[in-house]
Amino acid sequence: MAFSRSKLTQSVHSGSAGDSVHKGIVNPIFPSSAYDYEGTGETQYPRYFNTPNQRAVAQKIAALENGEDGLIFSSGLAAIMTSLFAFLKQGDHAVLQNDLYGGTFNAVTVEFPRYGIEYTLVDGTKPQEFEKAIKPNTKVIYIETPSNPTLTITDIKAVSAIAKKHSIVTIIDNTFASPVNQNPIDLGIDVVTHSGTKYIGGHSDLCCGAAVGSKEHIKKIWSSAFHFGGSLDAHTCWLVERSLKTIVLRVRQQNENALKLAGWLKANQKVGRVYYPGLPDHPGHEIAKAQMPGGFGGMLSFEVQGDPHAFMDRLRLIKRALSLGGVESTICSPVRTSHAKMTAAERAKINVTDNLVRLSVGIEEADDLIRDIEQALIEL
Ligand SMILES: *Cc1c(COP(=O)(O)O)cnc(C)c1O
Repeated sequence: MAFSRSKLTQSVHSGSAGDSVHKGIVNPIFPSSAYDYEGTGETQYPRYFNTPNQRAVAQKIAALENGEDGLIFSSGLAAIMTSLFAFLKQGDHAVLQNDLYGGTFNAVTVEFPRYGIEYTLVDGTKPQEFEKAIKPNTKVIYIETPSNPTLTITDIKAVSAIAKKHSIVTIIDNTFASPVNQNPIDLGIDVVTHSGTKYIGGHSDLCCGAAVGSKEHIKKIWSSAFHFGGSLDAHTCWLVERSLKTIVLRVRQQNENALKLAGWLKANQKVGRVYYPGLPDHPGHEIAKAQMPGGFGGMLSFEVQGDPHAFMDRLRLIKRALSLGGVESTICSPVRTSHAKMTAAERAKINVTDNLVRLSVGIEEADDLIRDIEQALIEL
């Protein structure tokens, strides 16, 4: 009997088959890389993305994203690049948002020309720019919202409507929002990708990626995926499945904390600009409210006075680190990390100033995080 389940229930039960031999309630780890090929219907093999632990976690992520099917990859980039290459070939053209995650930006700008794939980068906050960039050979539109590090918002519904009109496949990087806050398939997107290293894993201790879509689109991605080989091992799959059982609880707490912190930072005289889509004066706030029904996420950025590194050195609770989405709050300087390769002029265009810091809000008590930031600002 088909009935819709809430995300809390899906996160615990979807895809988790349990243990039919010993009647344990938890899905076991099946590390076999070799399977009897007679009578099983399909040949199981880790690089075919079809072993029991791979299927279990892919089904859970697909359920959380309201997709028909999914694939689990060994990294976010493996999921993103395999999905892009599955729908693009020599002579094709793609339209992508210009403020992409650094790793994706580098991969596209280095690899696409090597394979004879053309691309155009456009301002993600202006849907009409995507339409203007479409050519007869455009096969893919790729977006990322909220974006890194200034949390710009792309209107998912508007972009997918444009793509549908021109029969173009849409792919989104939904990492920052997580499946708890935003489900792009409901808004017309074809393929949702994730760096599962962030909110899906959620504990800063594993690397994985995912792609979710219709059975047909996932079949198409699979036909490239088993060639490129970016599959994930059974042990890590199992750990991802375990992590996902608490994703709703974690992300709800991160949403709540980030909203509280953003409000506090906004009111603080020592803080410059604050970027958080949950703030009413964020330029994408109204769109974010409509397309992120679960919450505005745990990522925010703000400007400090003086040297941001001295500020970060003074933090006692919040750790300086490059990644994001963990249960512990982490902070970084985009100028030193993700945007280090850009010139100062290029960075200025997208508001990435020298004193900007990007905070990944964890599940700690919000007031403890506020006190930590407050004492680190005080010495300025
Ligand atoms: C980290 C990240 C990626 C890349 O994921 P990996 O797991 O490091 O390969 C892609 N997009 C966004 C938004 C990310 O934060």
